[in-house]
Amino acid sequence: MCGISAFFGFRAPLYIYRLLIELQHRGQESAGISVLRNGKLFTAVKKGYVIEAFNPSDLALADVYAAIGHVRYSTTGGYMDAGGQPIEVGLKPRMAVAFNGNIINYRELSRRLRIEKPMTDTEVLAQLISVLTAENGGDVVEAVRELPYYVVGSYSIAILTSEPRIVVARDPKGFKPLSYSCSDRWFVAASETAALDGVGVDLWHEVQPGEVVSFDGYSLEKTEAHLTDTPTPCVFEYVYFSRPDSYFNGVQVHVARVRMGEALAANAPVAADVVIPVPDSGRSSALGFSRASGVPMDEGLMRNRYVGRSFIMPPGLREALSSMKYGVVRDVVRGRRVVLVDDSLIRGTTMRSIVLLLRRYGAGEVHVRIASPPVRYPCFMGIDFPTRRELIASRLKDPVRIAEVLHADSLAYNTLEAMVDSVGIRPLCTACFSGTYPFKNLNIDQLESIFSR
Ligand code: SF4
Repeated sequence: MCGISAFFGFRAPLYIYRLLIELQHRGQESAGISVLRNGKLFTAVKKGYVIEAFNPSDLALADVYAAIGHVRYSTTGGYMDAGGQPIEVGLKPRMAVAFNGNIINYRELSRRLRIEKPMTDTEVLAQLISVLTAENGGDVVEAVRELPYYVVGSYSIAILTSEPRIVVARDPKGFKPLSYSCSDRWFVAASETAALDGVGVDLWHEVQPGEVVSFDGYSLEKTEAHLTDTPTPCVFEYVYFSRPDSYFNGVQVHVARVRMGEALAANAPVAADVVIPVPDSGRSSALGFSRASGVPMDEGLMRNRYVGRSFIMPPGLREALSSMKYGVVRDVVRGRRVVLVDDSLIRGTTMRSIVLLLRRYGAGEVHVRIASPPVRYPCFMGIDFPTRRELIASRLKDPVRIAEVLHADSLAYNTLEAMVDSVGIRPLCTACFSGTYPFKNLNIDQLESIFSR
């Protein structure tokens, strides 16, 4: 999971800066911006949050009309040590590539492209686009249309070329979100619609699965990838990743999460005094649970906003930070039967810390309710779900046993059916829950060893 953005028009770098801040929840390891100035590309990539990495006064470049940006969360290449984006490749045209997704067959592609020891799949994807562009006489759009012939995996991409041109595209299965808007004076694209809202864009369109959209400063062109496929958008965008105020495939994420909470209350009721959400991603589902069950919701946990999303943090840091991340509102929990609602349960690290915190501050009972089904399988399409042995529901099949590990009085999940129904579109990729991957003949054991760190 990463965030990407593109802007063509006056004050492009400042718009990219604002868009990346709106997308910060999609990656906090590094931030990068490429700009086109006097026909030349310049790229800066820095570690950390966008506001630490860039100073807006340095980005007030009146002579720059096109830029792209990226916030990174790594799935290949390791944490902090490699793989910041955008990446520059090619000569005619020179281009900068920003990418959200994961290329499953990047090692095989790197051998075909003769790239020695690629650090990341982004590097391989960028080189592939560069080679295909050269083969197509410098036509980047045609190169992107050909990607599905070669790539197994997921990609939402933004490309800035020295022509100048901005190209944005999604893979034919449409795993990851990407939206854009355009007028006769500007073009803007971002991973999430909420980011476009955040810079004042009222009317936007989602890039369709397999669609390639290009803007050269004068005209917008839309075309399709050469291979089409049945779209299988990532259900986890609805469960956790996307902002609740974003739309994905026409469904507002908050609405889907509320429905998941309502279904959870129907499927796994419990006698309780208060529903407490795990902030922030459990909030919408907790609201749905509260509405459907009639148990009042209250804010019993306060999140320290200066600690990032622990899910998208390096493994060693997660445990330490998850215990620092929350404070308890004692008067809300003391002596009460608490239903603790979260979006998902991956490793169990954060949930265990929270349950212990609630008990320490006097909760009478703690019943954990999860708005999605058990995560039992790794993701190879762009999310850092670890190997099966690190997933608590893969190691411990019985929810009673998991509840013991969490020190909870009970634990219940939503069903797969209820989660998918709550989103309301089919098919969706649900591989991390169901084990049914939307690609044929994947060798999970082999891929686990490639993508695990
Ligand atoms: S495996 Fe899970 S996280 Fe990965 S793309 Fe599919 S639904 Fe999304």
